[in-house]
Amino acid sequence: MNTKRYKQQLLDKLYEPYQKCLECPLGFQGRINVVFGEGDPDADFMFIGEAPGKDEDIQGKPFVGRSGKLLNKVLELIGMQRSDVFISNIVKCRPPGNRKPTPEESHICKNLLLKKQVKIICPKIICTLGSAAIQGLLEDYTLKITKTRGTFINWDNFTVLPTYHPAYILRNPKKLKTLVDDIKTAQEYLIRQK
Ligand code: URA
Repeated sequence: MNTKRYKQQLLDKLYEPYQKCLECPLGFQGRINVVFGEGDPDADFMFIGEAPGKDEDIQGKPFVGRSGKLLNKVLELIGMQRSDVFISNIVKCRPPGNRKPTPEESHICKNLLLKKQVKIICPKIICTLGSAAIQGLLEDYTLKITKTRGTFINWDNFTVLPTYHPAYILRNPKKLKTLVDDIKTAQEYLIRQK
């Protein structure tokens, strides 16, 4: 069996028991779908956002709303496609009213799903999108995205490059170039690894 199919089977097996997850408070707060993530199960490049929003909750897929459209555009700008990467979030269920996930919710979901997803996919580079994603991943809620973005960080022996969230760029279009440059930096890192 090829690696992609094998990894997809491992991901499917991981997700199966959590289709109606009730392990953290978000399971009881009106979410429709548990949004596990999507993309190439053997991707070198992984993106981790904060949490599903309304569109993602309805469709059961990550980054399909306005932020997702911007992310697709940025990928196109650097010659990549969404299907080349794997996209997920720190928490897999939509927080009511799109509030930030709590440290408890992030901790539980990260340990139940995200850490295991990352171990299966084994990406060479992970870009976190926005402050909640890098804070939740490192469980350091003092981190400032303005200070950490664009820098390489080691997490659990994986290389992580935090950058801005596309939703922030939609509100601050002047920062688009910074987001594109950060993702290009990650892409160049990948090329150097080959
Ligand atoms: N914002 C996120 O952080 N994740 C999504 O999947 C969509 C919007």
